Amino acid sequence: AEKLDFISSSIRTFQDFPKKGVPFKDIFPILKDPKALATVIDLFEEYVRSSYVQVDLIVGLDARGFLFGPLLAQRLGIGFIPIRKKGKLPGPTLSVVYSLEYATAEAEMQQDAVTAGQKVLVIDDLLATGGTLWAACELLRQQKAEVLGCLVVVELKDLGGSDKLKPTTVHSLIQY
Ligand code: IMP
Repeated sequence: AEKLDFISSSIRTFQDFPKKGVPFKDIFPILKDPKALATVIDLFEEYVRSSYVQVDLIVGLDARGFLFGPLLAQRLGIGFIPIRKKGKLPGPTLSVVYSLEYATAEAEMQQDAVTAGQKVLVIDDLLATGGTLWAACELLRQQKAEVLGCLVVVELKDLGGSDKLKPTTVHSLIQY
């Protein structure tokens, strides 16, 4: 709990960003403090080691999932792969369209990134409505990977993201 309080104190809220009515959580102060960043990775590592016998890959989401994913993967001694916004990845890719609050977006991964049956965990900085993580899980399932669960630093509970992802589970460090 002390560790979680410490991380919480490194998250700032900006009212009305990127538009009016949105209380935006800024996680970058975590990266400005090496102790806070190490604590986040410690907590994720402890959770993964105590929850899963085998994990083959960490999958990170564009863009802030890339900040935490590779560090966690290194700690676990496993690989990292990215899921990106459409048009950023070279070679043969697979994509899925998903809905945001007032628009649609497309998430993409390289076809050879995972092989059938690989056990993966998906990581991002924050869970809001769950649309982004849902799309990632969908892509991975299309590639026949086994999605063990999702990891986020922050979960905004009121937006119902964890329901949208069911039966896939989400582990969050901090909840608002
Ligand atoms: P969702 O698809 O609605 O769950 O939105 C999650 C995605 O939007 C994640 O990739 C987050 O990085 C980003 N996001 C949404 N709200 C916030 C916020 O308050 N702070 C930081 N990122 C956010």
